[in-house]
Amino acid sequence: MQKTAIITGGSRGIGAATCQLLAKQGYNVVVNYLSNHSAARQACQEIKALGGQAMMMQADVAVESEVMRLFATAQNAFGAVTHLVNNVGILFEKTDLSHISAERFMKVMTANVLSTFLCTQAFVKQCSNGGAIVNVSSAAARSGAPFEYLDYAASKGAMDSLTKGLSLELAAKNIRVNSVRPGFIETDIHADGGEPNRVQRLSPQIPLQRGGTPEEVANAIALLLSDEASYVTGSFIDIAGGK
Ligand code: NAP
Repeated sequence: MQKTAIITGGSRGIGAATCQLLAKQGYNVVVNYLSNHSAARQACQEIKALGGQAMMMQADVAVESEVMRLFATAQNAFGAVTHLVNNVGILFEKTDLSHISAERFMKVMTANVLSTFLCTQAFVKQCSNGGAIVNVSSAAARSGAPFEYLDYAASKGAMDSLTKGLSLELAAKNIRVNSVRPGFIETDIHADGGEPNRVQRLSPQIPLQRGGTPEEVANAIALLLSDEASYVTGSFIDIAGGK
């Protein structure tokens, strides 16, 4: 059966590396993004240059109507969506509890957790023959990210609970739900937190003495999506260099 994957936030960073790897493995790939059209276009062009199948699709996955449009468009283009990577994640400037507004907290929860919930609901609705989902969480779910990103860490903790509950609720439908928890990975997200060189600064504290690459995370995502992991559900892979 032809495999089709939606990767939320697939235009940059870990999402883009995942899109490229899945396309190489023969999936039709839907590269979702929010606003950076040129990054999404480039991600698609790179896949097509390698002979893969990809379409770019703007949609804010924290908004239910846009998620429905995303899935309807993907189905029209490729048929049923068989695999889903809930990869979207945002964070804001590093700060402590007293400086995190209720508005910021809700934005982070909405973008990271509600998007996962909505995309999973849409995926399951159109899934007739089983499938696989990978949620991209974070090592922050374990550390709590004190004095930096309490809101972000809490959103990833909520995602981990979703992964566990969904894996049990969807097992009888033969839909597997797993998670990866990256540590410090070289992407643009650290600039959003106000420290573009965060990974280099923290490298000495990582047991493997370096940050990870988006491709190293993509490898684990692809494994969990694949038939090689056909008996794996409700599992978490930490990709954090031992941290
Ligand atoms: P990134 O480089 O900042 O890329 C973010 C992607 O998400 C972009 O494609 C962006 O689209 C898209 N996006 C953001 N909000 C969206 C929305 N509401 N709807 C649709 N697309 C949206 O991120 P990354 O570092 O690769 O992170 C990917 C995932 O890994 C996140 O869940 C993050 O929390 C997790 N993670 C990352 C690290 C790390 O060190 N990098 C560590 C642990 C966990 P536009 O380009 O259009 O804005």
